[in-house]
Amino acid sequence: MTLKRTILLAAFLCVTGAQAEAVDINFDGQFTQGGLVIGQTAPGSKVFVDGSLVRVSPAGEFILGFGRNAASEVELRVVLPSGSSDTRKIGVESRQFKVQRIDGLPPKQVTPDPEVVKRIRAESALIKDARKIDTATPYFLSGLAWPIHGVVSGVFGSQRVLNGKPRAPHSGVDIAAPRGAIVKASGDGVISLVHQDMYFTGKTVMIDHGFGLSSVFIHMDEILVHEGQSVKRGASIGKVGATGRATGPHLHWGISLFQTRLDPSLTVPPMPTKK
Ligand SMILES: [Zn+2]
Repeated sequence: MTLKRTILLAAFLCVTGAQAEAVDINFDGQFTQGGLVIGQTAPGSKVFVDGSLVRVSPAGEFILGFGRNAASEVELRVVLPSGSSDTRKIGVESRQFKVQRIDGLPPKQVTPDPEVVKRIRAESALIKDARKIDTATPYFLSGLAWPIHGVVSGVFGSQRVLNGKPRAPHSGVDIAAPRGAIVKASGDGVISLVHQDMYFTGKTVMIDHGFGLSSVFIHMDEILVHEGQSVKRGASIGKVGATGRATGPHLHWGISLFQTRLDPSLTVPPMPTKK
């Protein structure tokens, strides 16, 4: 969260012709696909993002999140406690994501086991439900940090197209680390999900950072927290592993604003290089 922008919007009270009241908004974050932006405006304001009312903290903070395929602009409407308001369209930068095309693969003769399909559906519903949590405490104001340091071996948004069929884009970042290395909480929050054995994601932990912002940590070897536990940024939550469908030990870290996946690497400083 390095990019700081301040936009001063002059709002005019047309009806009364009274003095203009400036709508002052500060932004921290990047208006780009995958980006997370924390805004702050006058306490007591109402904020609408693309027409939808979003949660605002008592100090006037709110969150904007842009998915991999976010539109090129977002409409922000702020209504001050006085009733004075302004609407502004803000550009959202588009990005090029890595696409790998592999053709000529032998067609897979896989008949999915109905029991496995049932299990996958039930497990993804648990994750989806955890992403619906809308806690009023802005834990995310603790700031976010890498849950572990290491080589980023998989980036957000990359996609493989196999025999012309696009697969789901990569929804987080992969960090290479040895089995057993400690995974730390990416930010303050409450543990919203602990699962010991999910088909795809293995040992899985989620943190609710408040206002619909959440982190997910998957493929872990061991989980060190329980559901409902409050954690501070940097607290030990688990150990790196290769549980679920993983080719080797690594941490997959994802961030979502409700169901919208964001790019975790845009929410933290650059990965420190080894000394
Ligand atoms: Zn991954």
